[in-house]
Formats: sequence, C-alpha cells, structure tokens
Amino acid sequence: MSTARPTALITGITGQDGLYLAEMLLAKGYEVHGVIRGQNNPRRALVETLVPDVRLHNGDLTDLSSLMRALRDSQPDEVYNLGAVSFVAYSWENAFITSDVTAIGVLNMLEAVRLQAGDDPSAVRFYQASSSEMFGKAQQVPQNEQTLLWPRSPYGVSKVYGHHMTINYRESYGMHASSGILFNHESPRRGEEFVTRKVSKAVAAIKLGQQHELVMGNLDARRDWGFAGDYVEAMWLMLQQPEGGDYVISTGETHSIEELLDVAFNHVGITDWSRYVRQDPSFMRPAEVDLLIGDSTKAREVLGWKPKITFEELVTMMVDADLAALKAGW
Ligand code: GDP
Repeated sequence: MSTARPTALITGITGQDGLYLAEMLLAKGYEVHGVIRGQNNPRRALVETLVPDVRLHNGDLTDLSSLMRALRDSQPDEVYNLGAVSFVAYSWENAFITSDVTAIGVLNMLEAVRLQAGDDPSAVRFYQASSSEMFGKAQQVPQNEQTLLWPRSPYGVSKVYGHHMTINYRESYGMHASSGILFNHESPRRGEEFVTRKVSKAVAAIKLGQQHELVMGNLDARRDWGFAGDYVEAMWLMLQQPEGGDYVISTGETHSIEELLDVAFNHVGITDWSRYVRQDPSFMRPAEVDLLIGDSTKAREVLGWKPKITFEELVTMMVDADLAALKAGW
C-alpha cells in the first residue's frame, strides 16, 4: 500500500454493488473514490446521500482519458471495475453499446491501471466484475473456475471478453488482477428491471392494495441467488491475496422464479398468488441460460469466504424494504 490509509477507486459506484462496496471499504477505513458517468447523472444524489464520504470523479468506461484522469487524481491502491451495461434482456437490443461499455470498457480500465501503476505493474490491484452469465449454455453443473464459457447473450459475450482480458493482463504484465465470477446477487438496492426486485416491489404494492397484477416471463427459470452485501466482501478478499486470481462466488443453491414468488407472497400472507400473476411473452428471452449453479469451493478454501444470508432471508428482506418504502410514500 502506497499510503497509510488505503485508497480505492470504484466504477459503477451508483449501482447496488458499488454502494455496498463503498460502505464496506469506508467502514474498513479506506479513502474511497468513485467514477460517475454523464452530466447531471440522476443517481449522483443517491451516492451523495448514502455514502457522502466517497469522492466522485467524472468518467466514462468508453473514454480512456477520463479513466486515466480519475486514476491520477485518486491515486488508488485498489481499483474495482463494477461499471457495466448489466441488464441481460436489454443487451440483445443494445448489443453495440453493451459491447462498448461491458467489454471494451474493461480493456480501457486495464490500460489505465497499467499506465498508472508505472514500473511496478502490481502496485495498483484490479478487480473485474465477471458474471455467471459467462457460463450460459452450461457445459458442466455446478460451474467452477475451469468450466468452459459459453455465453448466451451479448451481455454474457461482453463479460467473457472482460474476463479473458483481465487474465491476459495478469499473465502478460504481471498485474495483480482478479476476476470474480459472481452469480446473481440481489438486495433492496437491486434495480427494478431485475426479477427479484420486480417481484418484491410488486408483492409489497399488491399487499398495500396499490397494484393488482404482476406480469412475468418464464417462471421455470432458476438462479443461484445470493445477497449483494455478502458478495462485495469476496471482492475485497480477492484483492488482499498475495496474487491475483479467478474465483466463483455463489451460494451453491438454486431456486425457481416460482419459489421466489412463493416466498415473497407468503411473507405478506398471500398463499394463492396465481390470481395476481400473469405470464406475458414480452418478458421471455430470445435465449435462456441453462442451469446456473456455482461451485465456490475455491473462494471458501482460499479466501475463507462464505455467504451468510439465505434465500428466504434475502427475499423477505427485499419485500420488507419495499413495504417500508411504499408506506413512507417513496
Ligand atoms: P439475469 O440472471 O441477470 O438475467 O437476472 P434477471 O433477474 O433479469 O432474470 C433472472 C431470470 O428471471 C431470467 O431467467 C428471466 O427469464 C426470468 N424472469 C421471469 N420473469 C421475469 C421478469 O418479468 N423480469 C425479469 N427481469 N426476469 C424474469
């Protein structure tokens, strides 16, 4: 570490993971910087309210010079690249912008970090937010760090590029670069376009009589869902290791969308939820991933990491948060 107080720079600071990571690092005594995109970004106020001690820098993953300036001005020991166009369904209709940000954006970050690190390529440690969507048409169940990648969406393809480029920079330049292959992770801060939050918010609104129908896509889909607050801990642990590496982060359990609906509706006392839920083809996807279930043995053994929050705790936490927010009129 170059200074007495460790310093971190986070891209994607306005997202669910960026906010949890910033809170965790501040609690550990870090100086925390964030890269924020765009003029008058509507999420800037959220960051300034939730984590007021974070120092913000204007920058965009598609603009290398802006990233170099953010690194020069923050002088970080650790860089967490969480920024991405991250909604899978959107990525089919926006394949070019997804590739620019989610794939080439990683190369821009790696180059900026390499240039900033100067003579000692491992002086600035780098974390890349990789994704279980890289496994897509899963070639093995459960998936681990050796499983062949077979992405099934432009988002997944872009994440594969970022993952391999991170490994390549580690191997080519000796950078301390790590790739966290995180399975789905959720929280009350999850965007409403994702299924867990869509369900938690709708169930809360239905319970309060503010909504009468929930229109859904494929109810048979299954995911390995964990709590985002647990997963940011794993990111940090990766950067505390002597060497960079790749780690699957997951719970090792899967649940279907139907089970998600069961737990969420049951929590508010509605046992027969079928009268509220309608399926619509517009929420179905051109291609679905196969059974994604993670084997996080390496993270458990090397990092000493394990998830703390169960699926039921996660879903009920999200419904309770949405109930409280709706009651408060947010
Ligand atoms: P993803 O794993 O990153 O794609 O996370 P999502 O939360 O967007 O989707 C998880 C799964 O839920 C996918 O298999 C979707 O097909 C399925 N799903 C079913 N209905 C819906 C819906 O209404 N919205 C979303 N986002 N996903 C849905």
